[in-house]
Formats: sequence, C-alpha cells, structure tokens
Amino acid sequence: MKAVRFHEHGGPEVLKFEDAPDPVPSADEVLVRVKACALNHLDLWGRNGLPGVKIPLPHISGCDVAGVVELVPEVERTLTPGMEVIVNPNIACGRCEKCLLGKDDQCRYFTILGYGVDGGYAELVKVPRTNVIPKPQGMSWTDAASFPLVFLTAHHMLVAKAQIQAGETVLVLGAGSGVGVAAIQLAKLYNATVIATASGEQKLRKAKELGADVVIDHSKQSIFEGVRKMTGNRGVDIVVEHVGKATWDSSIKSLAKGGRLVTCGATSGAEVVTDLRYVYNREITIYGSFMGSKGEVLQVVELFNQGKLRTVVDSVFPLENAPEAQRRMENREHFGKIVLTVSS
Ligand SMILES: [Zn+2]
Repeated sequence: MKAVRFHEHGGPEVLKFEDAPDPVPSADEVLVRVKACALNHLDLWGRNGLPGVKIPLPHISGCDVAGVVELVPEVERTLTPGMEVIVNPNIACGRCEKCLLGKDDQCRYFTILGYGVDGGYAELVKVPRTNVIPKPQGMSWTDAASFPLVFLTAHHMLVAKAQIQAGETVLVLGAGSGVGVAAIQLAKLYNATVIATASGEQKLRKAKELGADVVIDHSKQSIFEGVRKMTGNRGVDIVVEHVGKATWDSSIKSLAKGGRLVTCGATSGAEVVTDLRYVYNREITIYGSFMGSKGEVLQVVELFNQGKLRTVVDSVFPLENAPEAQRRMENREHFGKIVLTVSS
C-alpha cells in the first residue's frame, strides 16, 4: 500500500510518501480502506518525538479515520466488508478493571490509533473490531474523519470532568483549534454562555458563527482582563485549557469561585507556574483530561446523527501532501480540522 511514514523524528520533512507493507489484521481486528484521515496535534508530537515516549519506527500517524471495511475477522457478527465506517481512536486492553468500569481512557495499556500503533496516513489500517462505528448517514468522508478525536476530547472535558451545568459560563481557549470548535458547540448544547478566544477578525467571526456569545482577540487583549470585564469581575465557571504555558496563569485567574479548569494539552509548553492562593481561596478544581471513554465516542456520534453538532473542516489535502498539511497546523493558520484524503 501507499502510506506516509517517518523513519526518524524531526520536522515535516521527515514525512515520506512511500510504499509500505499492507497491515495484517489479527483474529480480533478489522482491516479498513482509508478514505479520509484528519490531522491532530498528536501527529506533530509523535513526529517530533516526546521524551520518555517510544514510538516504533517507521511510523504511520493518523488518529481519525473514515473508510470502508475491507476485511472482518471470523468472530465478527455485525460488520461486513463494504460498510462505511469511522474508527474510534481509543485503543485499550478491554479486560482490565478500568476498561470494564467504562474508564478505558485510564487503562494502563491505553494508546491512540496513529500514536502508539500505526494509523490512517495510509491506504489501509488495521483496528480492533470494537473500534469500528457506522459512519453517520449522509456525512462526507472528510467530515466523518474530522470529528471523533476532538469532539470526544471536548465532551470528556466538559461533561465527564467539569460536569457542565446549564447557565454556567465557559471560557474556550483557541476557538479555531479542533478542541475549541468542539467545546464551543458542546457548551452551547448544554446551555452555557461561551467566551471564546482567538487571534484575528476572521477567526473571531467564525467562533461567533459556531455559537460563542462573546469573543476575545488574545493578540490584542489580555484574556484575563477580557474575562473580568465580560463577567463583571465574577470570572468563569469552566476553562477549557489546551494551550499550557502561554495561557495558564490567565486561565487560573479567570476562574470564578468554585471554578473548574480542565486541561487536555500544552501546545505552547508544559511547564507552568500556578499561584496556589487562587486555587485555595477560590476553591478551584484542576482536572487533567486525556481523550475519553469508548462509550463517550458513541454519545458524540449520536449527537451528530441528531444534527445537534456540526463538523468544521478547514482544509483538505491529498495524502501525499501531508507535510504541507502539518505545516499549516504548526503555523496555526487553520480554523477547524485539516483532513487528508486517500484515493485508492
Ligand atoms: Zn484495560
């Protein structure tokens, strides 16, 4: 098959469009012919290499896959070749205590498609059969690939962790990011007031179109001061954090008494300073959040089936242009998801 692989860690130039062996599914796996695969920040982290994380090389990135079932194992009862599907990116053991309690995101063997194992920057991908979900009807390949990981992440942050309530105020950082696009919509679905941050007129306008009630241009105004002004010095109930170093202090100070900060990433740097006086004086809770459970993916899919959420695709590139697509993500030029299409 054709695939985009990297044989060493580094910049986008290490991505090679080349021939790779077809994946051979085990007795428990389904082979999927990839139609589209969305980019995620994990692709950049995997490609750059992270200290303490060993990624088998050569490696194929790509967590979010939409495609057609090519081959199913004998034990499979509900999937048949030719079915149009999306793939749940969560890979867990399925038999430990956490998995059986429905907390598979806390499985000690947990990994993500395209991160710990080969993913969808390829014509074919093998995945556990329990990860295969029918594609929402009428959804295009690029739209179908664009939502699972980020909507799962945002759902887990807002619903499972922060336990969002109607009438609360939510601060969503980086409205143009995949998680930002998902968090704005989910917070509105739960009848919250949303303050979103982005840089530049065009992104702010798109954030409002998605449902943000007010927006802050973080290139022109301090987020914390903007929040203070917009909430009459009260602060927000929930902060959706994925930026890290550049915004952490502002995020902590933006919280109201009893506020919850949920973090799922640190795109600007992971080492932050926390003024603990805010944490105890205001009784703030800080949650770490990483992906979510397999069951939550199905809840998100159902919300799409009901037309309550919508995908936001920024741009589409052919598979072989993966380096260009990743550069667009690295330069933060995008609003919404960047998707690769695979023609085979
Ligand atoms: Zn497990």
